Amino acid sequence: MSMGAINGRVIYSPKGKAGEYAENAANFFVGCSNGCTYCYLRKGRGAKVLGGNRPELKKTLREYPFAIDIFKNELLKHKEELQKTGLFFSFTTDPLLPETERLTRQAVGVCQRHGVPVKILSKCAEGINGFIDFAEASEGWDLSRIAIGSTLTGCDELEPNASPNAARVSVLARAKRHGFPTFASIEPVVDFDKAFAIIKLAFPFVDLFKIGLLSGEKFKQRDVFLFITSVHTFFMEKSPTARIYWKDGILKAAEMVREILPKWCVPANYDLFNENNNENAI
Ligand code: SF4
Repeated sequence: MSMGAINGRVIYSPKGKAGEYAENAANFFVGCSNGCTYCYLRKGRGAKVLGGNRPELKKTLREYPFAIDIFKNELLKHKEELQKTGLFFSFTTDPLLPETERLTRQAVGVCQRHGVPVKILSKCAEGINGFIDFAEASEGWDLSRIAIGSTLTGCDELEPNASPNAARVSVLARAKRHGFPTFASIEPVVDFDKAFAIIKLAFPFVDLFKIGLLSGEKFKQRDVFLFITSVHTFFMEKSPTARIYWKDGILKAAEMVREILPKWCVPANYDLFNENNNENAI
């Protein structure tokens, strides 16, 4: 699928590795209080701009009283494309922290009114729970167009201020019970045993797993290969309805090609909202 890149104040088409995760994303804030030791916002060239421990409204939005109006204008300008690709919240913060959730809820309301499906990724169990309640109480909202996801690494010690991984699995289970599509970002995989254990725990409640390695770390090809094949064996035994997207980097590290993966492995642009749209996905 190739469409025009969006480059707005809130909505944009990420480049590079983030582009593999979502075609279009929305960021109102930069900075995040979850404190993950592996956080990409704290590393590299962007660290000064993106790496705060407290979410702050993006600089380009501060001079405007109503960030939500900017978002709405950008959404309407690219409505057709966004209806197809959906919109991901967020790369530069956790969108369901106490500081960020109000704008996220308002933005999802705008998306609902204009037929744009959304994917929300959070490590804050309380925020996800509150969002589920809010969405259910919002008249006319179609919950099947709101995918709720959480990052699951199995390594609580690396995510000191986020909810424990087990609590995140519990809220994904609740989201699934309440009719939301669900996804889990098993990324970064730091410890293969812990990642596999959390996949098994979350398996009954997750529609799509996205799995990737900790970037910049060296892993042995044999270990990565064994991890992937163990996950496949587990899925095969469970007759899966769940899907997996293996990121390019992990397949490369295992020296595996996408073409030989089992049928429940899907491409990056898999449509979580409509299984019928996936026949021609590339
Ligand atoms: S939740 Fe994401 S943005 Fe927040 S500290 Fe962790 S890795 Fe960084």
